[in-house]
Amino acid sequence: MADTTSKKTAKKPSLAERLAKLGLVKPMDFVVHLPLRYEDQTQIYPIASLAVGEYAQIEGTVVQQHIVQRPRRQLQALVRDSSGELMVRLLHYYPNQIKQFQVGQTLRLRGEVRRGFQTAIEMVHPKVSQAGAPLATTLTPIYPTTEGLSQPALRKAILQALEDVELDDTLPPSVRQQYDLWEFAHAVRALHYPAAEQSQALLNQTHPAWKRIKFDELLAQQLSLAAARARRAKLKAPAIAASQGLASQLLHQLPFHLTAAQQRVIAEISADMQRAQPMHRLLQGDVGSGKTVVAAFAAVQAIEQGYQVALMAPTELLAEQHYQKLQGWLAPLGITVSWLSGSLTMAQRRHAYEAITQGQSQLIVGTQALIQDKVQFARLGLVILDEQHRFGVTQRLDLSRKAADSLRSLDDQGQTLLPHQLNMSATPIPRTLAMTFYSDLDVSIIDELPPGRSPVQTKLVVADRRDEVMQRIQAAVQAGQQVYWVCPLIEESEALQLQTAEDTYEQMTQALPGLRIGLLHGRMSSAEKNVVMDSFRLAQLDILVATTVIEVGVDVPNATIMVIEHSERFGLAQLHQLRGRVGRGAKQSYCILMYQHPLSAIARQRLRAMYETTDGFEIAERDLALRGPGEFLGVRQSGQMLLRFANLEQDADLIEQAKACASYLYEKHPTVATRHVARWLGTKEELLRS
Ligand code: ADP
Ligand code: MG
Repeated sequence: MADTTSKKTAKKPSLAERLAKLGLVKPMDFVVHLPLRYEDQTQIYPIASLAVGEYAQIEGTVVQQHIVQRPRRQLQALVRDSSGELMVRLLHYYPNQIKQFQVGQTLRLRGEVRRGFQTAIEMVHPKVSQAGAPLATTLTPIYPTTEGLSQPALRKAILQALEDVELDDTLPPSVRQQYDLWEFAHAVRALHYPAAEQSQALLNQTHPAWKRIKFDELLAQQLSLAAARARRAKLKAPAIAASQGLASQLLHQLPFHLTAAQQRVIAEISADMQRAQPMHRLLQGDVGSGKTVVAAFAAVQAIEQGYQVALMAPTELLAEQHYQKLQGWLAPLGITVSWLSGSLTMAQRRHAYEAITQGQSQLIVGTQALIQDKVQFARLGLVILDEQHRFGVTQRLDLSRKAADSLRSLDDQGQTLLPHQLNMSATPIPRTLAMTFYSDLDVSIIDELPPGRSPVQTKLVVADRRDEVMQRIQAAVQAGQQVYWVCPLIEESEALQLQTAEDTYEQMTQALPGLRIGLLHGRMSSAEKNVVMDSFRLAQLDILVATTVIEVGVDVPNATIMVIEHSERFGLAQLHQLRGRVGRGAKQSYCILMYQHPLSAIARQRLRAMYETTDGFEIAERDLALRGPGEFLGVRQSGQMLLRFANLEQDADLIEQAKACASYLYEKHPTVATRHVARWLGTKEELLRS
């Protein structure tokens, strides 16, 4: 008896549970659970006509069978039809499959066509069915599914829902007409019951049914962004008057003139802060464009009016650097800048908390430590996030919540005041993303580098030529320049990464006697890191061997060479960030990307992009094209918010239309808007709210 109970608790999830895992609960959820792709089982293709990468159905006869032991035990069957032959490989198999693939058997096989070893093409674990059976008369939809839920079971549930629910249209006829859209019912039926003669349009998603679905999805997203904007417009922030004195004092004591672009964005930010709504602005500027000083101007405006400013950076190294720089600029104006990080001692931290709570600290620079519960600001007016894409959604939420708490005392008409928020990033947002996921954000762009800089020259060097690279950096050091040497990224193992950095340091020290070489890696304490970083900044070190800890924001203008080993392992955004560490002074700088063969297709394209352009926008566009929005957005978005059907690149026109339609519906037909969002986003709407 005891036995059966324990079995029961471990029982498999029910069908309903498995469906719910896919978010399929209400009938309408099923209706909009649309096929990921279609398989064409309506035809038998001649083997000779198949191309690598396509999904195909063939019929052929087994002419040879082998059980192979190496490199892995597997069953191989050579299958032939009148046009050609291909190899079938089963990497694990049952005895009855040996029988199934016996020489002389004629079979129908379905699967992805891959490049083969012994034959030009092969199929690995194809689906097997009886040769000569009737062919499908429609395309076969393949749905996104989950473990333990078969395609037929899922399809059955979906088709049932299509019968059960009324497929009313959320869009009025006038709107459908204006944007040339199919009726909703018509569209979903076409997608779930795909007719064979429309196969091409369905497969490549150009079918009008797909257009309707993509439009609906984009519209829902735009509507929900419009709602978020409207909610934000109701929020209150302290209106902070433009600076009367501090800003011009700061301007006069800077060792350089602001660029026109910097002046323009400083004015945009200042105007935002003078309004009684919280600023929600992204300051975008390529690496080295001078965002930090812009942040300083925003800070003095708030400080002059008696508010505190928090500046948060994603790494301790970067936060420390900001602290030093801002302290240097602002202390002479009589502003108290304090520093808060996880590595302070308890006593130091208590002291820092107190100064923040009492309001003595005017500008507080730090890491995530800033959003710890113990930190209570007296009068927080402005929050600045540097390299904002590095922070998770929750961290940013925490900071605004904290800010809301600390400003509550200022609330005069019973409404909470929120601080203004300035996000800074060197990673530009491609246009399509700006129109979708980020459309609730105001953007300021620094589109100009400080004068006297020449673009970094990028060289691709194969790893065998390491010696030449060493000679070159030696010559540069003798000419008084400094060098970064970035060690290979080893994502699988932090320990291995550390090991590699230490080994590289040893090798460099031996190969380049007489040069002053430092080592920087993520396992060092921040005090240790600071010592190394300071010596590099003060030119007491010639070469800094480092892991990617130096990726964001580090600013040492005298460094002119950036060497990246195994650059093929890095992402495009990361390479661009690393390259941005040089080219910050007047001297010509170089980025040397060492790579090792063989290069994957993607790695090749990344390196080519780095070689061909130094323009951060161009890099971002290419990065988006290579990785797709999901990865591009990274931590910022939770998976559910991503578009399932529309494609940001191909459907740019539809995005425009959906945007126009959304503002019309939102203004004129709010009930239509609400219903449409409910159908498409359902519970996901909650997420968009945050
Ligand atoms: P990023 O935009 O990458 O954060 P930084 O703010 O670190 O760039 O600025 C890069 C370097 O350029 C810093 O040394 C900074 O002091 C300097 N800088 C900023 N603005 C100017 C300017 N207008 N003219 C000359 N140098 C500038
Ligand atoms: Mg920066």
